[in-house]
Amino acid sequence: MESADQVHRVALIPGDGIGPEVTAAVRRVFEAAAAPVAWEEHAAGLAALRAGGELLSEETIDAIRRAKVALKGPCTTPVGEGFTSINVQLRKRLNLYAAVRPVRNLDGVRARFEGVDLVIVRENTEGLYSGVENQVTDGVVMSMKVATEAACTRISRWAFRFATRRRRRRITVFHKANIMKMTDGLLLRCARRVHDEEYPNIEYQELIIDAGCMKLVQDPTQFDVLLLENLYGDVVSDLCAGLVGGLGVVPGANIGDELAVFEAVHGSAPDIAGQGVANPLALLMSGVMMLNHLAETRGDPRCRQAADRIKAAYNGALAAGQTTRDLGGSLGTEAFADAVIERLA
Ligand code: NAD
Repeated sequence: MESADQVHRVALIPGDGIGPEVTAAVRRVFEAAAAPVAWEEHAAGLAALRAGGELLSEETIDAIRRAKVALKGPCTTPVGEGFTSINVQLRKRLNLYAAVRPVRNLDGVRARFEGVDLVIVRENTEGLYSGVENQVTDGVVMSMKVATEAACTRISRWAFRFATRRRRRRITVFHKANIMKMTDGLLLRCARRVHDEEYPNIEYQELIIDAGCMKLVQDPTQFDVLLLENLYGDVVSDLCAGLVGGLGVVPGANIGDELAVFEAVHGSAPDIAGQGVANPLALLMSGVMMLNHLAETRGDPRCRQAADRIKAAYNGALAAGQTTRDLGGSLGTEAFADAVIERLA
């Protein structure tokens, strides 16, 4: 338990594109809600490179290790060539093996479906994101999909423990083990074993990913917790965001045994960067997840109170139709943050 005047140090990485705009908005809301955190800002991504540093410096990595918790804006990774994704590097180096993305309808946000309440658990450290790509001969390249028993078991155990603690009913694994018999087959074997031996309390289901995606877009309300390897989890996260109103409403966390980095599912949105129109809600919701994580791991009820107040305030703003452009409204980034701040009880 923390004393009343103690604050939790949190590493803050504004990132690229819309990152600095949305992190500034979240910071203002946190300050207005008197959330007991002290930000320690560190650069990463193109912003860090342009400032003469490295994409992902040891200093930034060390700052996250020290604080144990970070809030991160999106970082740009150029398509096709250049450096390894900073997000992939960060998740691997800090061993943030579980990406968790709750996907729910919000009152006041028009969506294709009602009653969606699912959680994506994505393996964050291997699969095709191992970054092992080779030129075999002229005109032939290869990408290596890696799966290890240790990582498949670890993510399965994490997902079942999460489902149990959150009183979830069922875990569905999306896979392509009919084709990738060894790699996806290994995840299935590990998930089945963890289910059978440790968590028979949770229903367990397997679906080939193509059929799973069809079912998702027909009726996402049939799903509860989805467990996916890295690439499938990445793709299905955006798909699911589209079911409940878009990338502006889906938060996320990258969690390891010691550390946790909270970030929205969306990227740096270069098409709207610098215009003051980006929706800060997904990062704000990620910040609320972070406060709840601090409440649980540090035993500090003030974090839960701040999280509840912020959540009630953004729910109130959305229900009153105060939304940004991506959600059909007309508010800019700062005006949405102001609307939330005005509703803080
Ligand atoms: P994106 O998520 O940045 O954008 C997709 C679309 O959604 C764009 O039209 C964008 O304007 C819109 N959008 C995204 N976030 C929004 C917000 N908060 N408010 C309003 N509209 C929003 O995906 P992209 O364009 O494919 O990727 C851009 C860059 O982001 C790439 O370099 C990619 O590698 C990177 N990226 C980073 C992360 C991360 O840091 N975690 C995640 C995904 C993509």
